[in-house]
Amino acid sequence: MTPIIEFKDYTFKYRSQVEPTLYNIDLAVYPGEKVLIVGPSGSGKSTLAHCINGLVPFSFPGESSGTLTVGGQDPSKAGIFGMSKLVGTVLQDTDGQFIGLTVAEDIAFALENDCVEQAEMFSKVDEVAEIVDVKTLLSHAPTELSGGQKQRVSMAGVMIDDVDILLFDEPLANLDPATGKKAIDLIDKISRTTGKTVLIIEHRLEDALYRDVDRIVVVGDGLWRTGNRMSFSARISWKRKVSVSLCISRL
Ligand code: ADP
Ligand code: MG
Repeated sequence: MTPIIEFKDYTFKYRSQVEPTLYNIDLAVYPGEKVLIVGPSGSGKSTLAHCINGLVPFSFPGESSGTLTVGGQDPSKAGIFGMSKLVGTVLQDTDGQFIGLTVAEDIAFALENDCVEQAEMFSKVDEVAEIVDVKTLLSHAPTELSGGQKQRVSMAGVMIDDVDILLFDEPLANLDPATGKKAIDLIDKISRTTGKTVLIIEHRLEDALYRDVDRIVVVGDGLWRTGNRMSFSARISWKRKVSVSLCISRL
C-alpha cells in the first residue's frame, strides 16, 4: 500500500534557527491508520504537523531537504489552501480558528469559500454537526461555547471539506479530564467510521490512550545523532499491543 504521508530523509530548519528542528526523518503513515505522536515539549511535534499541512514553508519559512509526500502532493508546492483540501488541522487553541458569527456559519465557512449552493451547504453542515454532536448548538456564537464544544465545532469545520487526513495538535490541552475522554472517544469514532487517516499529537499519553491507536510514534532525542532508527513493539497496557517507532528529532 502506498503511504498517505511519507517523510524520507527529511530535514527542516526554520529560517530563524541555526540548527534543523526536524532532522533526517523517515516516517510513513498508511491510509486509514490512527497514529499517536508523542514526545517532550519542544521536540518538534507541531513542526512536523506544520510540514504536513503546508504551514511550513508558507507561514513558517525555512529550508528543507529530503522528500515529503502527503496524499501524493508535495505540501511545499501545493500551498496551504491546496493542502487544506487533504488535511484538516485542529489546533490546541481552537479560539483562533473561529471565523463565523454562529456555529453553523463557522462550520460552513469552507463551503462558502468554494461557492457550494445553499441547500447542499445546509445538508452538509447538518451531517457533520451530527457526527460531532453539535447540532443543538448551530445557532450559538462560537464564543459562548465550552472548551469541549469549541473543539467539536473545530472538528466539524475541518471535516466538512471531506479531507482524507485529520491532524490533531494537542487536542486535550485545554480540556478537563472528562471532556478530554469525550474528545478521544469522538476522534476514535471518526477514525473508525470514516476510515480517515488520523494523527494525534499529544503529550497526555494516558488520556490519549483511553482509546486504541494503531501505532505510537515517539518524537525525541537520542537516536538522531547517528541517524539510527529503531522500531519495536511495546505492551502499552495489559490488553493492548501497539507498534512504537522511535524517530525524528531536533539538535
Ligand atoms: P513541540 O510541538 O514538540 O512542542 P515545536 O515543533 O513547537 O515543538 O517546536 C520545536 C522547536 O522548533 C522549538 O523549540 C523552536 O526552537 C523551533 N520552532 C518552533 N516554531 C518555530 C518558529 N515559528 N520559528 C522558529 N523556530 C521555531
Ligand atoms: Mg506543539
